[in-house]
Amino acid sequence: MPTERHKQIRALFDDYIALYAARDDRLTSRFSENFSGYTGGGDFLVKDRDEWIKITRQDFAQVNGQLRIEMLDLSLQDLCAEVVVVTAFFHIHLPIPESILSRESARLVLVFRQEGTDWKIVHSGISIPYYLVRAGEVYPIDGLHERHRELEALVDQRTKALQAANDKLEALSNTDGLTGIANRRSFDTGLAQEWKRAQRTGTSLALLVIDVDRFKHFNDHYGHLAGDDCLRALGKVLGETGRRAEDLVARYGGEEFVVMLPGAKLPDVLERARHIQQAIRSLAIAHAGTPAAIVTVSIGVAVQIPSPQQPADDLVQRADQALYQAKRNGRNRVCAAPGCA
Ligand code: GH3
Ligand code: MG
Ligand code: MG
Repeated sequence: MPTERHKQIRALFDDYIALYAARDDRLTSRFSENFSGYTGGGDFLVKDRDEWIKITRQDFAQVNGQLRIEMLDLSLQDLCAEVVVVTAFFHIHLPIPESILSRESARLVLVFRQEGTDWKIVHSGISIPYYLVRAGEVYPIDGLHERHRELEALVDQRTKALQAANDKLEALSNTDGLTGIANRRSFDTGLAQEWKRAQRTGTSLALLVIDVDRFKHFNDHYGHLAGDDCLRALGKVLGETGRRAEDLVARYGGEEFVVMLPGAKLPDVLERARHIQQAIRSLAIAHAGTPAAIVTVSIGVAVQIPSPQQPADDLVQRADQALYQAKRNGRNRVCAAPGCA
């Protein structure tokens, strides 16, 4: 059963906590002239009332908003007729987010002594995990902010590294390993996009399918490694021949390349095809299996304004058929699909 005396001390203690939470200077009014104490910040004892008042003012200046005190447990203990000790555990919720003090328990011991008709605080010991505290700080706020900044910088750095790795992976997954130009996957994506755009805008899309003449013979005669070198050289030339930003040059597979030209009209496309043919001839890569005795290519061309429901494969098929025609007509030539726009 709580005694009257304990009820009185408890009320005084609650008052003290309320003043502390409200950052109210009257907090110190209950201190005895013979006050002593210590605080948890740093490792020093507060030996008298003046020092305690000074440190309390620092505390209030650093955080001047209302605190919320979440009381965990509290005990009152009689030491003798006129001395009662209150020990309390609580969380301090500072008016800043994610305060470490909301998770760590603070411990406060107040010693009340009867002086005349009044009860005064003769000793206070408050222990708060102040290990992060810097010069002049009562709470570890600077440390918290710094940790936040460090974490944010770290997250930022990791995000950028991840982004760079993703970009690299994305580039790799769209690049042909042998020639370094765009691969089939990249072409398929680009074609789907441009086809849709052409359908939306009613503009034309042109495709060149380029196939090396008698390349099996080339491999058989000069070896597969020489064949690889030849494909690399062709990839390089194709990548360099007068490209606009919206054009796409890709290795379609094996010894076949494609060039996609959004918005181009047949005369320009044919001109481009002949230019490519000439540039490859100019490489003058010896090829014992062709009439010209150098590496040549056959090119199938298709240009069209897609109708709304038409699949993009139509364009590829038509260019392929034109290529087949070029091969049948004797290779080393350019053929356009019938009915090109
Ligand atoms: P055509 O003029 O009719 O196109 O005759 P072709 O011999 O070029 O046609 P075919 O399709 O019969 O042969 C293509 C050859 O391309 C066969 C294959 O070994 C070769 N080839 C495909 N990919 C590569 C590659 O990455 N490196 C090398 N060295 N050769 C390749
Ligand atoms: Mg082929
Ligand atoms: Mg071929």
